[in-house]
Amino acid sequence: MQLDRSKKLHAIGVVVLSLAGSVAALVTSLRWGIGPVEVGLFCLMYSLSMVGITVGFHRYFAHRSFEAAPWIQAALAVCGSMACQGPLIYWVANHRTHHRFTDVAGDPHSPYVHGDKPLGNLRGLWHAHLGWTYSHEIPDTVRYAKDLMRSPAIRLWSRFYFLWIGLGLVVPALLGGLLTWSFAGALQGLLWGGFARIFVAYQISLAIGSIAHSHGSRPFAIRGNSANNALLALPTFGEGWHQNHHAFPSSGVFGLEWWQLDPGAIVLRGLEGLGWVWNVKRPPASAIASRSAVPEEAWGSEEGSAERAARSVAAGEARLPR
Ligand SMILES: [Zn+2]
Ligand SMILES: [Zn+2]
Repeated sequence: MQLDRSKKLHAIGVVVLSLAGSVAALVTSLRWGIGPVEVGLFCLMYSLSMVGITVGFHRYFAHRSFEAAPWIQAALAVCGSMACQGPLIYWVANHRTHHRFTDVAGDPHSPYVHGDKPLGNLRGLWHAHLGWTYSHEIPDTVRYAKDLMRSPAIRLWSRFYFLWIGLGLVVPALLGGLLTWSFAGALQGLLWGGFARIFVAYQISLAIGSIAHSHGSRPFAIRGNSANNALLALPTFGEGWHQNHHAFPSSGVFGLEWWQLDPGAIVLRGLEGLGWVWNVKRPPASAIASRSAVPEEAWGSEEGSAERAARSVAAGEARLPR
């Protein structure tokens, strides 16, 4: 099947090309050195793609945890696509499947099961980290992302996925060339801000499926084995508070305690201050303190919340709202 072949090619291509580019980045840096331009472009592009994934693909498109101006939605879709984790609609359908079947048969990237087979420790970690990208079932976008497929703009952003990946390579190359006015600068911009950044961001993001479903603390009594992993919180821009997220999927804020650093939520607060983002959802303090997850309906999720609709449709309980 064509789609299955594309999925496998994509899984191998991202790893091989980003790894090869990272090796090339190290080799060229041994020759030409590494300076503030390379480090700056890596950090800039890393931050853009990580904000695109956690604030955009995850908190906005998959869980509708806030509302945003159309141009912010577009920017988040483009930046998230640069992270090479699949086209927007595909990503959202796959992720909602993960919430629907967390750590049981049907979960695309659980460290505990693959299909109906239980997995051991190491095989489970491998499957949840990289193995699944090659072997998972194509998500049912009609069932799990119908709300997104109804929007012509979102369909367009999703369809031009490879263009946005290209943009994520061209921009750091151009900036590197302009800032150093040299070919070497452009090449190193491409390698550090493009390929090496994709390699690191990709592996760190996958660690949420593998590490944050096996290692960490579990303050909430909820189904599945998601965990809060403080070490992953900063590099994933807040995704490391993964059990918090599974307890309150529609919350725009993942760091629920004052000490839980959540850069994605800080970005959201900034955008909110500028008036470009509004209605950021957050569970009530009483629900957090009680250490039990409250059904989303109980803490003010919008009627027709896309995720809940997708879930109830999947469970055969309801039709999607018109
Ligand atoms: Zn999870
Ligand atoms: Zn989620």
